[in-house]
Amino acid sequence: MIPDSLLENVTITRDRTVLLGKTLACDGFDQTCAIGAISHAHKDHTEGLHSSLHSYNAIFVSEPTRSLLIASEGRWLERRTNLVALPLRKRVKCNGQRVVLYPANHILGSVKILLERADGTRILYTGDFKMPQRPIQSDIVVTEATYGDPNSVRRFGREFPENQLIRLVRRRIASGPIQIHATQGKLQDVMRLLRRHDIQVPFLMSKNIWAWSKVYEQYGEQLGEFLRIESQEAAEIQRSRGDYILFFTLGSKMLNFNKYFCIKVSGREPSIPFQQITDKYYSVTLSDHADLSELLQFIKGTGARIVITDGSRCGLASKLAQEIKRTLKKDAYPMPV
Ligand SMILES: [Zn+2]
Repeated sequence: MIPDSLLENVTITRDRTVLLGKTLACDGFDQTCAIGAISHAHKDHTEGLHSSLHSYNAIFVSEPTRSLLIASEGRWLERRTNLVALPLRKRVKCNGQRVVLYPANHILGSVKILLERADGTRILYTGDFKMPQRPIQSDIVVTEATYGDPNSVRRFGREFPENQLIRLVRRRIASGPIQIHATQGKLQDVMRLLRRHDIQVPFLMSKNIWAWSKVYEQYGEQLGEFLRIESQEAAEIQRSRGDYILFFTLGSKMLNFNKYFCIKVSGREPSIPFQQITDKYYSVTLSDHADLSELLQFIKGTGARIVITDGSRCGLASKLAQEIKRTLKKDAYPMPV
């Protein structure tokens, strides 16, 4: 049973909106609020954007997230003055309360959102995050729970799967084009990794991935040359040479295995860093989320008395709440109930 006093501070609605202090709607829309904030530009966190733009005085985001939202939605969004880019760590006053954004190390522009209530209570919503990073001192933490399960503890770092990915691309690109499937943000991380290891073949991609890649480039990421797949140049490359890489978002239809070698990059196999599925299809594990031990480490560092585990975007919130109670001896509640 969740105490009423806690619900005054945090609620997560069934449509995945995290309400802090009944006034700030994070990663969703609620008509009882007048201000909102978006932790990052992944689609499952921006569903409330259009409703929020119509009715909120301000929707706080980081500057790169604003750019990624414009890249996804279109230039009309540039004119919406209530989509407000805040500098990181800057306190903004709002109806007697303060809002602060801190980096979350998940994708470009991702932030944690802190609400300081008028009575001094500090409520932190992590959004999606990855370690390492500094914990923020808080009274109440609302944490993501994507890998909040003892079975989701990774026993390897990023270096091993990254090296396997580079070796695989180097070996296979000589025999024909490669298709790489991952989520937005991770795709750009993979592009940067390949360029850093001197893989200089052309990168071809859909309009949406290209638009995000342009923003990554604008914020200093070195992605080399990349082209929209429907451009004339890309068509010419596909006609005339075999050594190019096509990038797709996870869930897109895989291309013909006879022609295209395929690599899926995701965080969904926490115990297997690298796996051959068929002779033309491999999977590589690179995660942009904290695993269970990292979630616990972060929560402990915040000093929070109470933890809410966010089950609105994953099914592990109850398990994570149990682990927090068992290992950190803190009050922990999964939401939504
Ligand atoms: Zn995300």
